[in-house]
Amino acid sequence: QSQTTDVIVIGGGGSGLAAAVSAHQNGAKVILVEKMPRLGGNTILSGAAYNAADPGRQESIEMTDLERETVETIIAEEQADELVQSWQATLAEEWEAYKASGATYLFDSPSLHKLQTYNGGDKTADPVLVDQLGDQAYEGIEWMESLGMEFNDYMFTVLGGLWTRAHQPSEPLGTGYINAFSNYFDENADDMQYFLNTKATDLIVEDGKVVGVIVESNGEKVELRASAVVIATGGFAANEEMREEFNENWPSLADIKTTNHTGATGDGIELGQQVNASLVGMSDIQLLPMGDPETGSLSGNIEQGVQDRIFVNSDGLRFVNEGERRDVMTKALFEQEDALMWTIVDQHSYPTGDTRNNFNETIDELVAAGRAYEADTLEELAELIGVDPANLVATVDEFNQAVDGTIEDPFGRTLFDNKIDIAPFYAAARKPTVHHTMGGLQINAAAQVLNEDGEVIEGLFAAGEVTGGIHGTNRLGGNALADIVVYGRIAGANAATSLTAE
Ligand code: ADP
Repeated sequence: QSQTTDVIVIGGGGSGLAAAVSAHQNGAKVILVEKMPRLGGNTILSGAAYNAADPGRQESIEMTDLERETVETIIAEEQADELVQSWQATLAEEWEAYKASGATYLFDSPSLHKLQTYNGGDKTADPVLVDQLGDQAYEGIEWMESLGMEFNDYMFTVLGGLWTRAHQPSEPLGTGYINAFSNYFDENADDMQYFLNTKATDLIVEDGKVVGVIVESNGEKVELRASAVVIATGGFAANEEMREEFNENWPSLADIKTTNHTGATGDGIELGQQVNASLVGMSDIQLLPMGDPETGSLSGNIEQGVQDRIFVNSDGLRFVNEGERRDVMTKALFEQEDALMWTIVDQHSYPTGDTRNNFNETIDELVAAGRAYEADTLEELAELIGVDPANLVATVDEFNQAVDGTIEDPFGRTLFDNKIDIAPFYAAARKPTVHHTMGGLQINAAAQVLNEDGEVIEGLFAAGEVTGGIHGTNRLGGNALADIVVYGRIAGANAATSLTAE
């Protein structure tokens, strides 16, 4: 059995669907294969925050003095790479112009986004890939809107995002992205097909060029042939063996759960290895400090953004700057008793009991299910969760003084909005959970996969979490969706145009 098309996409999460739509928009017929019984991958489960500098939406946010200091620090930081230095030069000009204008809204720009992304990954990402991510992130928002997806008007700071540039989809979790893409599939069914329960097992290579994929469906092998193949199979956070094989930076991950769906098993890494693909950053595994203690999932997370919540350990004490990078916060959490913490928020985060979190759960539902605790005073809340009441009261009091600016935050936190001072108060327990694998197939700016000699593997493209080099050692919160959309779109377009280039 065999079937022929223009572009084959492996994986029906955000990046694969973006690549498929983009390939079709650039004139290709497309077949997408997805091994699970439904589309969506991890993308549909994610908080779905999307980072992009967006002056229109950021205009209503006031900038704080601490945020101003952050920009100046980033401009002044020593950088070795020339491209990175050019971002700093651009940022310095933009920043001078902003200051001269007397504006008070939150400053942002692609240059600042690039620098925070690059610095936030310990300067190990490929600057060329970061450059393109920052330049095209906002276009990606407009592209999604052109496909019918809606984003809320307000923006927020997502955990480990470092800046208020996260867009929130109007539909819950990642469903907005997946719905927009799959509607496009339905509308163009003549030229686009997807097959569920269909797993890619091998690449077909002829004369050094990838010309197709062998897939397995219902125990049957089928040969799919095409002019280009896009690997978009996601990461390997749900593959415990691979985690153990590549983990260097964390204590053993054997007992640590994951936020990921069961299909995140790193298949694309293996497919790439069949053609000698170069792998980068494989030991850069991202954990979040925000896992449900039972399941590792992000559901039940009560934070509504970085500014308005704190984390306390089982003594009721803060232990980290809660506006920090994800790796920094999770490392600090591993140092606490049972690697367990409590997220503390107040009425600012939940003005009413039916207010929903980022995972489409109301706070009342979470409290009723025993997954969150509610009390009228901090003392009562402390009793409920078994931490020392005097400590919790003192901790919150100190935090509130830092919000007011009367003291400097003892953990160097710079992201604040409201104090924690209005009942009801809420708490929910959280543990480390494996979330994202930054490493993967090495690509160039055209999303072509490179081999171990740094040469392009003809006919092979990749996008999304299966690729490496975009985030470095630590991915900023909110950058995964931007990565998926920007690089999925690039991979699809180039896979399609590689047809005519021959
Ligand atoms: P990304 O965010 O990069 O798009 P996702 O996890 O959202 O990653 O999506 C990746 C998708 O690829 C998942 O739906 C997963 O089930 C699918 N997938 C993984 N391996 C294979 C494979 N061998 N064949 C087909 N689909 C696969």
